[in-house]
Order: sequence, then C-alpha cells, then structure tokens
Amino acid sequence: ARESDDTRYRFFTPALNESLSRRILVEQALRQALGYNEFQLVYQPQVKLDDNQVVGVEALLRWYNPKLGQVPPDQFIPIAEEDGQILPIGLWVLEEACRQLAAWRELGFNPVMSVNLSARQLRTHELHTQLQRLLEKYQLPSGQLELELTERAVLDTSHPQVRQSLAVVEELGVGLALDDFGTGYSSLRYLTEHPFNVLKIDKSFVQALPERDREYTLVAALIAIAHKLGMDVVAEGVETAEQLAILQSLQCPVVQGYYFSRPLAPDDLLARLERRGQH
Ligand code: C2E
Ligand code: CA
Ligand code: CA
Ligand code: CA
Repeated sequence: ARESDDTRYRFFTPALNESLSRRILVEQALRQALGYNEFQLVYQPQVKLDDNQVVGVEALLRWYNPKLGQVPPDQFIPIAEEDGQILPIGLWVLEEACRQLAAWRELGFNPVMSVNLSARQLRTHELHTQLQRLLEKYQLPSGQLELELTERAVLDTSHPQVRQSLAVVEELGVGLALDDFGTGYSSLRYLTEHPFNVLKIDKSFVQALPERDREYTLVAALIAIAHKLGMDVVAEGVETAEQLAILQSLQCPVVQGYYFSRPLAPDDLLARLERRGQH
C-alpha cells in the first residue's frame, strides 16, 4: 500500500502542475509572439518522382520564444485555435509565404507554395479579400498558391461560411489540398463534394508501407482513386528508400518527407537546390 501511495503522489502533483503552468505560459507568450517577431516559416520540398524536381514546398510554422525555447506547432496551434489567436497568426503565415514565394520567383525558383489553414480561418468572411490582396500585392499567379486543409477543417460544411470559403478559393484559382487523408474523420465523400485538387496521404500509411499488406493495398487504391478523379497525390512522411521504392512502383506522383529533406529555412532550401542543380 505504501508503494502505491508513493506512486500516486509522484504521478499527480508535480507532473500535472508542470503541464498546467506550461500551458498558461504558452498561452500568455503566444499573445505577444507576433508583436515580438517570434515566428518563422520553414519549407519542406515536395519532389516529383518522374524527374526528381522540387515542384512544391509546404510552409511550416516555427515559434521560438526566449523563455520557452522552440515550441512545436502541435503544442501551440491547438491553443491558438481555441483562443482565436490563429486568425492573426494564420494571416501572418499567408503573407510571409506569399512574400517568400515572390522572392523565389524573382530568382527563377517556381514551386507551388502550400500553406496550412485552420478551420477557424475558413469560417471568417475575410478569406476572400485576404487572398485577393496577397495575390495582387505579390503579383502571384493564383495557381501557384495552395491551401492545405484537414478533414477536420472541412467537416463543418453545414456551416455556410465554410462552403462559401471553399467556393471562393476555387473561384480565385488557388489550389486546395486535403491534408492527412486517411486519419480521423475520413470520408470518401470529401473527395467528391469539395473542390480539392490534391490528396495528401497521411504519413501513418506511408510509414506502415514496407511491412503491412493492408496499408499497401489502401495506398494503392487511394492513388488510383485520386488519379481517376483528376487529383494530384502527395505522399507525406517518406523516410526510407524502401518506402520511396514502393511509392514509385505505385506511381505516386509526388512525395514529401525526411528522406529528401527536413523542412528548411529559405536560404538552406535554396542552397540545397543549387547543389542539386535545380533552378
Ligand atoms: P502537417 O500539416 O501534417 O505537416 C507535416 C508535419 O510532418 C510537419 O510537422 C513536418 O515537419 C512533419 N514531417 C515531414 N516529413 C516527415 C517525415 O518524413 N517523417 C516524420 N515523422 N514527420 C515528417 P510540424 O512542422 O511539426 O507541423 C505539425 C503540424 O502543425 C502540421 O502537420 C500542421 O497540422 C500544423 N501546422 C504547421 N504549420 C502550420 C501553419 O502555418 N498553420 C496551421 N494552421 N497549422 C500548421
Ligand atoms: Ca500540411
Ligand atoms: Ca499532413
Ligand atoms: Ca498532421
């Protein structure tokens, strides 16, 4: 009995307190992060398998706070979504990604820029004017910008503003990618009901590829369905040569993952492309 009392004490008090106070610290620091310029975008290349060219990049948000250190997006984005901070933060992400894309275009590097969008951002009326303003300000062809949405974000399509936003994105000619496909709230209906151009197969499937038949069959079927619907496919989380070879044999057009590159700061990405002789 003594021993389990001990365990309980150790389990409840310090650990729980620590995670609660960390959450409060994160919340407070997050409110000032934009003002203090603590955000940065890194970019992960998307590689087309038939010619090995970088055809796209996904912009991923990084937050460094002097007190908290580097806080991973999985920790702060859910908090930002809850308290609404994701709206100004998401707008900063869109603007910074567009600015970077314009700078790259000047240098002759022309990837599709993929930006992650939160459900909250789809529910605002401002998305249309924001996108239009950015495309104009940075002189970008709308087709060179793509928004990544998870199934969770489009789940709420009974919400009239969500439908409206998706229609507006399509009308502008901005691309739409369905992110993390196959996790959580999957429904094949999303593929037919909404104007997605790209299907991103979640890394959990890709990473299970070598060993398990069922994932192999599922990924093969998803690639075939997407092709038939005229959608592009990006396989996420490719880490090994073995996964790559399997995806190649399944005629997966585009892959993204640590095997090719981690997300990189803009200069590092450019340096790497120069070494590969692209652009
Ligand atoms: P996501 O959109 O699914 O982004 C892909 C995540 O997988 C990124 O994590 C990326 O660094 C990681 N990744 C890429 N290749 C590999 C690989 O080969 N193996 C493994 N294990 N992981 C790989 P990250 O950057 O930590 O972002 C996590 C999530 O945070 C993102 O998942 C996305 O949901 C969210 N997020 C990131 N930036 C933004 C943003 O600007 N806005 C919004 N709303 N969400 C964002
Ligand atoms: Ca994404
Ligand atoms: Ca994803
Ligand atoms: Ca994810």
